[in-house]
Amino acid sequence: MICTQCNKEFIKSSNAQKYCSKECTKGSKKESLKKYYRSDIGKKANRRGSLKYSQSDAGKKKQKIYTQSDKDIRNNAQFGHLNGLKNH
Ligand SMILES: [Zn+2]
Repeated sequence: MICTQCNKEFIKSSNAQKYCSKECTKGSKKESLKKYYRSDIGKKANRRGSLKYSQSDAGKKKQKIYTQSDKDIRNNAQFGHLNGLKNH
């Protein structure tokens, strides 16, 4: 068995063991947490929890992409055009 954390070979004492030492197990938990926050699921969870993100430019842009489908954008463009005619 090769430790996925440090790539050292070790003999596992239990089926659940993935790492050669407690240090590697700890390290892997940190790593998986980092990966979690880098992943889409982590980002979504972060977004839900933080208003700062949705208020940021990046958050706003993403929300626009999310809420405006192509149809919506086309409808909005038509609506804007009609409004323009009324104003003239
Ligand atoms: Zn290790």
